[in-house]
Amino acid sequence: MSHLYAIAIGSNRPHGRHGRPPGVVEAAIARLDQEFGLFDASPIVLNAAHGGAGRDFANAVALVESDLEPADMLARLKRLERELGRRPGRRWGPRVVDLDIALWSGGEFRSRALTIPHRQLGRRSFVLQPLATIAPGWRVGSLSIRHLAHRLARRRPRGLTARQVGSPAISPAFAARRNVGVITQ
Ligand code: ADP
Ligand code: MG
Repeated sequence: MSHLYAIAIGSNRPHGRHGRPPGVVEAAIARLDQEFGLFDASPIVLNAAHGGAGRDFANAVALVESDLEPADMLARLKRLERELGRRPGRRWGPRVVDLDIALWSGGEFRSRALTIPHRQLGRRSFVLQPLATIAPGWRVGSLSIRHLAHRLARRRPRGLTARQVGSPAISPAFAARRNVGVITQ
């Protein structure tokens, strides 16, 4: 059975081949498209590092279709992280790439290694903002992504400021499906 996953992508460290974080995020989106077939991808946005320290993040969200169940999807994403140059290290330190499962079409999922929706989803404007550009109507419990994004922006008007730095190159198959369907849970 095919599932829809929303994958949150983040990078705040350059990569030898892919360059600065926006280039790394773009490469991650291209790899997700190769691996799964991309349903949609948000613009890539730049976000100031938390607390003013550290390096800026580039973030985006990709919607991918897959038959994989969540545990297998997480394993596949971890492999992609390694392929894209992530090395095990400090959890909050600079990282070449982070691929998290924000949502999936199966609703709630919980295991020791994995919680979907992602625990921090409601607090992370750097995920909610891009996600709202591609799946505003996706419901998390009783609230839509659009609603959650607005609520967070209202609460933290001077919080993370995002600016768009580009849209990822997309495959023709993805472009053809761009207008397809309503994404609801
Ligand atoms: P971060 O919390 O910054 O994403 P890691 O990428 O190192 O840090 O993830 C730590 C662990 O979080 C993963 O090994 C995974 O088991 C767990 N995890 C729990 N829920 C999720 C999720 N929805 N998506 C991705 N990882 C998750
Ligand atoms: Mg992660």
